[in-house]
Amino acid sequence: MDLIPSFQVDHTKIKPGIYESRLDQIGDEFATTFDIRMKYPNTEPAIHPNAMHTIEHVIATFLRNDEEWKDRIIYWGPMGCLTGSYLIVKGHPTPEEIYPLMLRAFEHLKDFEGDVPGATPVNCGNYLLHDLQMAKWEAAQYYTRLKDSPCFTYPTTKRITTNEGKTFYDS
Ligand SMILES: [Zn+2]
Repeated sequence: MDLIPSFQVDHTKIKPGIYESRLDQIGDEFATTFDIRMKYPNTEPAIHPNAMHTIEHVIATFLRNDEEWKDRIIYWGPMGCLTGSYLIVKGHPTPEEIYPLMLRAFEHLKDFEGDVPGATPVNCGNYLLHDLQMAKWEAAQYYTRLKDSPCFTYPTTKRITTNEGKTFYDS
């Protein structure tokens, strides 16, 4: 069974939202990757690397402590293009089911006070690459966008072929 769709996201039309990026089957289990898109790609400034690193630390810590979802969280981390993050969970929940979790997570970050968890030389590979104030600003903007106009369906286009004749994937 081919679970990888033969189309890709049309990044010229994507809006901030929560999308199913891919579904993988491992034995009898599923792992769902969500595109947690915070920015309009290529039309507004992407998230600064320092703020994105802080978003990674604070939200990953929140998700792995969330009573409802912590046992299903496989991975949380930034996209290389700095316009959002990837969330990988066990099973095959819908973006609508992930929505309340993301609202809780970004509300937590927008109001966060104190030290960024794990931002020490012992726990992090680049502990000075952080910006809590900007991370909180980005979280507040995304929280408002999610709350006011949640979007769960991708605009799609056919996958492109690379110069070497291979199919392009961004994750
Ligand atoms: Zn780090």
